[in-house]
Amino acid sequence: MNHRRLAGKVVIATHNPGKLAEMRDLLAPYGIETVSAGELKLAEPDETGTTFAENARIKARAATQATGLPAFADDSGLAVSALGGEPGIYSARWAGPDKDFARAMQTIEGKLDAVMTTDRRAQFVAALCLAWPDGHTEEFEARVDGTLVWPPRGAAGFGYDPMFLPDGHDRTFGEMSAEEKHGLPPRGKGLSHRARDFMKLAATCLKRES
Ligand code: IMP
Repeated sequence: MNHRRLAGKVVIATHNPGKLAEMRDLLAPYGIETVSAGELKLAEPDETGTTFAENARIKARAATQATGLPAFADDSGLAVSALGGEPGIYSARWAGPDKDFARAMQTIEGKLDAVMTTDRRAQFVAALCLAWPDGHTEEFEARVDGTLVWPPRGAAGFGYDPMFLPDGHDRTFGEMSAEEKHGLPPRGKGLSHRARDFMKLAATCLKRES
């Protein structure tokens, strides 16, 4: 398959300010101009896919079709092994309309108690999709493996970070700085699922400005 490089301007298909800031940081060294779906007041498509990859594709395709520009979208979440991969693509929804992640983490802990397991393995998964108006897409997926701790630890990051202890580390994502969690080489280690996924995308579709 022929891969396509991204150049010029891209729509970042998110209405989430945290994700937008992170994606802009990641794209900055490559001289790509960005505009967000939020800034363009694009309608948010229904995430009707059954996988992270499908939902990322739905969001990227909707934004490229609405604007005629290439578009970049991600979909991500936490998959808990003993819960058959839940909450998975429903990770945001488990926090309810108030985005109450203390409650969402409590729900996970309650379900692990209910299945009486000692298996506390989990993965954060991220899918990225770059879509062009002619229908071409470039798609990537990456994960970071870890275990779930209880009680949650740390106030940094967002979502399920305080519960997630990445393999090979003794602090949760909630106890790590943004640089430690997301930082890309040479400064960081590219630890998080999104950072790992972005490194794959960059290797295929981006060219660093010299
Ligand atoms: P999305 O906006 O549909 O991709 O939903 C992502 C959801 O997955 C977030 O709201 C969080 O609940 C969870 N999630 C994804 N990535 C992370 C992360 O890096 N830390 C903590 N939670 C995350």
